[in-house]
Amino acid sequence: MNTDFYVTTEAMAEPAVGCTAELERLGDEIAELSAHLDAATARLLELIREFDARAGWNTGFRSCAEWLSWRVGLDRGAARERVRVARALGTLPRLAQALARGELSYAKVRALTRVATPETEERLLAVGRAGTAEHVERIVRGWRRVDRLAEAQETARRHKSRALHVYQDEDGMVVFRGRLAPEVGAVLIQALAAAREALYQKAYAESVRAETSDVSLEPPTMPQQQADALALVAETALHHGIDPGAPGERYQVVVHVDAPVLADADAPGQSVLDDGARVSAETSQRLACDASRVVMRHDPNGRILEVGARTRTIPPALRRALQHRDRGCRFPGCGRRFGQGHHIHHWAHGGPTKLSNLALLCRRHHRAVHEEGFQVERQPDGELSFRRPDGRPLPESPPPAPVPVDPVEALRARHDAHGLHLHARTAMPGWLGERLDVGWAIDVLHPLAC
Ligand SMILES: [Zn+2]
Ligand SMILES: [Zn+2]
Repeated sequence: MNTDFYVTTEAMAEPAVGCTAELERLGDEIAELSAHLDAATARLLELIREFDARAGWNTGFRSCAEWLSWRVGLDRGAARERVRVARALGTLPRLAQALARGELSYAKVRALTRVATPETEERLLAVGRAGTAEHVERIVRGWRRVDRLAEAQETARRHKSRALHVYQDEDGMVVFRGRLAPEVGAVLIQALAAAREALYQKAYAESVRAETSDVSLEPPTMPQQQADALALVAETALHHGIDPGAPGERYQVVVHVDAPVLADADAPGQSVLDDGARVSAETSQRLACDASRVVMRHDPNGRILEVGARTRTIPPALRRALQHRDRGCRFPGCGRRFGQGHHIHHWAHGGPTKLSNLALLCRRHHRAVHEEGFQVERQPDGELSFRRPDGRPLPESPPPAPVPVDPVEALRARHDAHGLHLHARTAMPGWLGERLDVGWAIDVLHPLAC
């Protein structure tokens, strides 16, 4: 036993002379191929940037990252990171070029794009060239601390500057001028939009019902609508004792649907919201798929004859079983954890409410199957199959693209054809082994460091 042990150690400590040169070649080959892969990654990011900008992923997917994860099998985090870096490089041509020339590794570029701006790009590129990936990572972390500090100061300054001035003009009109923090402003904008919708969609729905589209009556301008909306927001707030309420109670939708419409989107009848706004038959079918249901029977004059008990279209126990079986949205590439139960054959068409006829879909993809023409079926073997609106199948994970027999040779040939001659030293950092002083480096490099 002991003898064996010594033999092994000696062999490791002193490799044969012929072996050293061979290992060096192996190392060079690793370095050269890495440079080729980085250069190819630059091209990949360019393609992703264009695909993202032209919304090529918007075919049932929530985002470019989700599409990437589905199409090429990247994990979710890596896909998001590719898209982020691809977008960032759109405004950072020097970093993009360094990656394309195989001079900077993808790891370094990824780190640098977290902080680089067109103004600081040049300096950060020098950091990437001089240091190892670990140096770059540490400098970027230090840089972000300075950025965050500056951002915190900026947020505090903005918060301090919040104000609302309300005063009466000479003619008696009340005038406002103000500054709100972004998130508070967003609430105001949303409230105004909701109030405007309540005021003007209702009026529109009424005029459609009465069929009296009075052309002589000019609709109010946007600023006028905003003024009316603000009044409604104020009245509503006072009426409810200025109680913001629980988030779940703030938005609730009640849809009144004529039964024939639920069964057949082309049937006569209508679907209207409580305030009179119409929704499409497809939308009401989606809302009815997984909802509380109260069936009311009317006579031909609209008088209510009978009101049934409120029931869930999918009872809670079945819903739990569905969540347990499907775990998340079943749309290819999605997997979002929480969803709605979709009746593959709608209950209004007589589809049964049982597990084999249900599939969990997130809100986005539930819309895709009801309103955007995507189709889902359960096959005899129990698997779900999805189709695009044009009927082409949408596989759970698409087959990988064909790869040349010798991908390295193919990459080298393509790069050579573009005049890009990469070798084992292309991506070598300029670092000579001196200690890295991150604090000093940030002080010298960061425009806001003091
Ligand atoms: Zn559905
Ligand atoms: Zn989904």
